Amino acid sequence: MLQIQKRNGTLVPFDRQKIINAINKALIEVDGQLYEDDTAKDIAKEIEDAMYEIDEERATAVSVEDIQDMVEDELMQSERRDVARAYIRYRYKQEVQREHEAVFIAPIREKLEARNVQNQNANVDEHSFGGRLGEAAEVMTKEYAFDYIISKKSRENHMNNEIYIHDAGSYAVGSHNCLSLPIDPLMEKGFNTRQTDVRPANSISTFFQLLAVLFQLQSLQQFGGVSATHLDWSAVPYVRKSFRKHLIEGFKYIARGDKYVEDLLASGKEISIVDSYIKENYPKTYEYAYDMTEKETKQAVEGMYHNLNTLQSRSGNQLPFTSINYGTCTLPEGRMVIKALLEGSLAGVGRIHKTSIFPCGIFQCMKGVNRKPGEPNYDLYRLALKSTAARLYPNYANCDWSGNAGYDPDDPTTYFSTMGCRTANGWDINGFGQKKDGRGNICPVTIILPTLAMEAKEASDDDVVAAFMNLLDTKIHEAKDMLIERFEWICSQPADSAKFMYENGTMAGYVPGEGIRSALKHGTLAVGQLGLAEALQILIGCDHTEPKGMELAKKIEQLFKDRCAEFKEEYKLNFGVYYTPAENLCYTALKKFRAKYGVIKDVSDKDFFTNSMHVPVWKEVSPFEKIDIECQLTGYSSAGCITYVELDGAVKNNLDALDEVVQYAMDHDIPYFAINVPNDTCLDCGYTGEFNDCCPICGSKNIQQLRRVTGYLTGNYKTAFNLGKQNEVHLRIKHIGRLEQ
Ligand SMILES: [Zn+2]
Repeated sequence: MLQIQKRNGTLVPFDRQKIINAINKALIEVDGQLYEDDTAKDIAKEIEDAMYEIDEERATAVSVEDIQDMVEDELMQSERRDVARAYIRYRYKQEVQREHEAVFIAPIREKLEARNVQNQNANVDEHSFGGRLGEAAEVMTKEYAFDYIISKKSRENHMNNEIYIHDAGSYAVGSHNCLSLPIDPLMEKGFNTRQTDVRPANSISTFFQLLAVLFQLQSLQQFGGVSATHLDWSAVPYVRKSFRKHLIEGFKYIARGDKYVEDLLASGKEISIVDSYIKENYPKTYEYAYDMTEKETKQAVEGMYHNLNTLQSRSGNQLPFTSINYGTCTLPEGRMVIKALLEGSLAGVGRIHKTSIFPCGIFQCMKGVNRKPGEPNYDLYRLALKSTAARLYPNYANCDWSGNAGYDPDDPTTYFSTMGCRTANGWDINGFGQKKDGRGNICPVTIILPTLAMEAKEASDDDVVAAFMNLLDTKIHEAKDMLIERFEWICSQPADSAKFMYENGTMAGYVPGEGIRSALKHGTLAVGQLGLAEALQILIGCDHTEPKGMELAKKIEQLFKDRCAEFKEEYKLNFGVYYTPAENLCYTALKKFRAKYGVIKDVSDKDFFTNSMHVPVWKEVSPFEKIDIECQLTGYSSAGCITYVELDGAVKNNLDALDEVVQYAMDHDIPYFAINVPNDTCLDCGYTGEFNDCCPICGSKNIQQLRRVTGYLTGNYKTAFNLGKQNEVHLRIKHIGRLEQ
């Protein structure tokens, strides 16, 4: 029996009628109607005969394309060349249709039906209705951006796995990445939303409610995260407002005629929660008001944790990426808030007190404030350690980091703070200096270092390193061009696209007459990098855990730093060296690399590239050694970096050991530090510890395994992480070493 091979490879029986139908279609198109069907029948017969001959000659089946070629030839040789042309046109149209189906419709269908869920972003539920819709739209906007907005040069860099363009789906609409919200003025003055205006916060409970609202609204103006940079300080006036309210209640039936009290309550002035006159003269009233304020603060914070872990956003069933920095406020009100935040983190959320995924808590360490016994917030730092050991949060920001030089000790908005993932605001060349509030990352690109290393190796016979440095320099310049290209595109958007942001000044510096560039110019253009360790392996056969590798690593990072500094001056834009949180990219870049260069030992033999300049997760080093290595490179970065170490569950009972590691990191000028401890939660009884898939208390197998991705936490990593990240988690070595001694 004659067989035909279809385009998808399957074999089907030859059907003469199909040829007849196709030719008749072409005849109708030319003649308007079918006058005769002999032509079609004759040609079909000719082809069938020819097929029998071919069938005897070769073993493989004839393809659909072969048959169509034969039809074309037969028609061209016949008297109906006009029909041949119609047939060719028809074939071409079909091909375009098929191509459209393959590159465009099929991926959209895949997303709409939630087949092939890849968990590109651990925070999006790709199975949900909203997630399906969002992911499908992303396919389209991404395609659109690459076809119609992004320049050829940029596209080539992206497609060649050399310089990656992040969030290309959002590129199409020209939104920016992330923002540190100016919480203070928003709470003090209130803000406008599409439907209504919102009055200023008038108590600590409204403060924390509005905080969740602000985070939610701002996250809709952009594609990345939102942060509060000094939440403890921001909350102080509202703790005082609540204290005033509770005092008024407490004084309702007493103290008539006490001038101090009457004046105080009538004045509307802020009242400290340690007001000594009231404390001494009206101890019971004072105690009542203080207790009520503390209780309200605690409940407000609980409400915030609850809100930020439940309010989905962006119609992608996605929780906003939220981060809160705190820890330096030594005022009694600020301390009350810090304590509530840490106790809330320790307590967890929901029925079984699961670890709260959002917000990402970041404790700001500062010399003289909370680093040593005897310093005013040292007790809170110890509480932070306790929370970290049990809940992974808070992470630690280093306010004394050399890279944040020039900050104002009297202005907490200039203290070093960060987005949970690691993106941070550096020195603003356009006038805001180290001020963090109202600024953020505008857009990042990431240079895939292993690709450049391979290209250098293939292109040069003698000095591979020199060839690489040359190529890297070229690519850093191209990365700059790509960022400027996107920056201009973002600046060309109307302010109405992010009305909440520009109307309320959440992005600082906006002057309506000057356009949105007036605000965007204070943000960061991040030149990111991926896979330093693998690139070094390719170039010199070892990574930066060895002195030779470190020497070259420093040369590489120095080039990044020098170039970004030059670009910053030349273009008056905040270019910065960025140690990219490559969540999905560490996997997709590796896959592309491997398809081209194959499996290379210690380079592409795992399912991921090492994040930024990190020590590979599978290297056996102590936490101190890891810090020793990475702290030599963190100083080159100005747009954000993170260092983390893996510890085991035993630190829960050994806070001094944890303390030693955190102090070591701070003393070694690590700007942002996080500790990974195993966090397996039994979803039946709530027991938390390290036990992988079976609860030691109740025997349940219903376990959530919480792990860190980028700087944030995510739910069960086995279902929420992409394959590359899952593989990375398995290979993460615990950095115990000296801790055990
Ligand atoms: Zn259990």
